[in-house]
Amino acid sequence: MALHVEVPPIPDRVSLLADVAEIVSRSHDLQETLANVIDLVGKRLDADVCSIYLTEPDLRTLTLSATIGLDPECVGQVQLAFGEGLVGAAAERRETVAIETALDDPRSRYFPETGEERYASLLAAPLIVQGVTIGVLVIQTLESRRFDPQDIGLLQTCAQLLAPVVINARLIALAASPAGERTRPEADSGGRSGTLELRGIPTMRGVAIGPVYRLEDPIDLARLDYEPSSDPAREKEDLISALADARREIDELREQVGERFGPEFAAVFYTQMQIVEDHGFVTKLEQQVEESGDALAAVRAVVDHYRKTFERIQDPYFRERGADIEDVGRRVMEKLLGVRHQSDPMQPGSVVVADQILPTLFARLEVERVAAIVAEHGGPTSHGAIFARTLEIPAITGVSALLTHAQPGELAVVDGGEGRVYLDPDAGLVAEYERAQAQYHVAIEHLDALRERPAESRDGRRIRLTANVGLLADLRLVEQHGAEGVGLFRTELLALAHRGFPSEEEQQQLYTKVCTDMAPRTVTIRTLDLGGDKGIPNVGFPDEDNPQLGLRSIRLTLENQRAFRTQLRAILRASQSGNVRLLLPMISGIGELRDTRVLIDRVRNELVRDGVPFQADLPVGLMIEVPSAALVAEALAAECDFFSIGTNDLTQYTLAVDRGNERVAHLYNPLHPAVLTLIDHSARAAQRAGIPISLCGEMATNPLAVPILLGLGIEELSGAPAAVPVVREIVRALDFGKAEKAARQALTVATADEVHAISAELLRASGLLDHPDIGDWLRSSLDAGKR
Ligand code: PEP
Ligand code: MG
Repeated sequence: MALHVEVPPIPDRVSLLADVAEIVSRSHDLQETLANVIDLVGKRLDADVCSIYLTEPDLRTLTLSATIGLDPECVGQVQLAFGEGLVGAAAERRETVAIETALDDPRSRYFPETGEERYASLLAAPLIVQGVTIGVLVIQTLESRRFDPQDIGLLQTCAQLLAPVVINARLIALAASPAGERTRPEADSGGRSGTLELRGIPTMRGVAIGPVYRLEDPIDLARLDYEPSSDPAREKEDLISALADARREIDELREQVGERFGPEFAAVFYTQMQIVEDHGFVTKLEQQVEESGDALAAVRAVVDHYRKTFERIQDPYFRERGADIEDVGRRVMEKLLGVRHQSDPMQPGSVVVADQILPTLFARLEVERVAAIVAEHGGPTSHGAIFARTLEIPAITGVSALLTHAQPGELAVVDGGEGRVYLDPDAGLVAEYERAQAQYHVAIEHLDALRERPAESRDGRRIRLTANVGLLADLRLVEQHGAEGVGLFRTELLALAHRGFPSEEEQQQLYTKVCTDMAPRTVTIRTLDLGGDKGIPNVGFPDEDNPQLGLRSIRLTLENQRAFRTQLRAILRASQSGNVRLLLPMISGIGELRDTRVLIDRVRNELVRDGVPFQADLPVGLMIEVPSAALVAEALAAECDFFSIGTNDLTQYTLAVDRGNERVAHLYNPLHPAVLTLIDHSARAAQRAGIPISLCGEMATNPLAVPILLGLGIEELSGAPAAVPVVREIVRALDFGKAEKAARQALTVATADEVHAISAELLRASGLLDHPDIGDWLRSSLDAGKR
């Protein structure tokens, strides 16, 4: 009879699981992960041997794959069939086997070469994925030991934590085989075909080349073992304190992120805080914990309930919001389990690979070291995507199988504009992208150095170049690239980040900051342009068959007068700290303009009555982005102070081409003479009425459009800050007289291709194709793009 010895108490069972989870979450090499895990498990469970057996592809054989304690020479050599010995029994029955006196057990099968006959007790837990045993984690002890439920539970959980790592490694091996599913570009020269190309949704354009930095995969909390206290009251207390800890953490994040990037970035944490404080959420949790006596199960159940509700929602934007509830739930669970985050240091210029671009990512990462972000899930409307765009970080979302393939440290090339990621790129590809990237940077630096030069044509026609911005973080880019003000401040990003109409105070603070930073330059603040593809909660969006033609933009705000009034008050109040213009989106006729002006007058009167100061002569302008507005521009011009042409929408509505539908993208072309005719019509109306006219669609920075727009008499072009220097160079190389002639000619032709040719000829004749910074790029634009 073997001697029974007392096992020293396990110092911190949760910390063992947290540490294993940590190793697993940072895993990039299967053998290394297995070695680390068995070392840790062996020590913490006070075992003399800890080994792992992995299942062969036949799903019937186990191979000793790593061991601490047995002869290392046997790794890869010792094999046993399912059902053979105690380990085989655990595999076959998919059950944990705990044997105090293994030596006496008839099922025992010893491999003398391992030297394992010396070990008295054995505990073997299978690694199971979808009902299939993919390995067995085993501990053995020299002295006899009765494994208690805690030992058994711990080993089982460790086995389950390891399972995804093993599966991933298997998948990678499979994918790497010739029959695998990897899509490789044709091998170019010399058979250098190691490059793996993955595709996703272009989310922010730009090129990055750098090492993959895998953001610690979320620890699978579902697999972590949690043993509730036997006292239900204690469980409830633990849950309440976990909620408080989570709330504190979210609040800290809100503060940090707010300080680094501006309050609108922090809005999402504010919402998360509202969730942890939400009476309904907290009550549900309390009820659950009272019923089940298990705090972790209560969080899981409640979060699951919310998640399912969100999943049923059609709108992708709303669906993505379910992620915030999950984020909160996760944080609370982590607090309950004592899980900590820890990441490897990030190299400068890293390509961050993540499951999703979550807002928290920007708080956790050193953003200045991030060259690009690529995510397996999520869409371009997520908060994270918005933040990435704002920060000019090239980004791609929805890259399927990314996490399976991307290995930490391996080189990646990211082409954000094309939505392509190349893993382990071949030398030719890297060189090609390096050239493109270097050229781009040099050009931008040169051009930025010349930012003080006015955008004036050779024959003295001066136009204003301004920037489109959406977040505070963009303002530094306005400075960097020398824009002369903000031609379009899109306020809906604030609402999208906030997921609801922000308060007057919040809006006023934000607008004031923009105006103060930009003063004395002009800031054109556009009122909320929501709806269509930009929906937010709390506004009651109807489910529309044709949202682009539905209740969007000014129509929506006119229906939500309280929210509209709040925004108008905030803009008016901010107007006194700078030089502000108020811009109304998607006006389609005089009625909408008049209704809005009535509301504006009412708000002005309220402010006067309350003695609140504001810019009394605040110009009120409108966007021409619906053909009807262009056609009645004369009437509109008589009742507003300026026009800004939104060609993104004007093109879509004139040509009946959905700007977001790739199937008709070839038909979407702002150079179409029909669009130019409407621009011309609007420009003439503005001239006759003596009001300024600008253009703020993407067309404003399209090199082929610039000569035509100049020639049509557009006085201000507003576009992405980074594009401003290029437009400046083009304007400076042109002759206004010739541009006017080209524009007149463009109005007489029938197709966009003909306009393209007219403009290309002018650019060529102006010598711009020899420009040291933008010549090559222009040449390729003339050859390739018509947009
Ligand atoms: C436009 O339509 O051209 C425009 C600038 O507005 P948005 O792209 O925000 O719809
Ligand atoms: Mg628009």
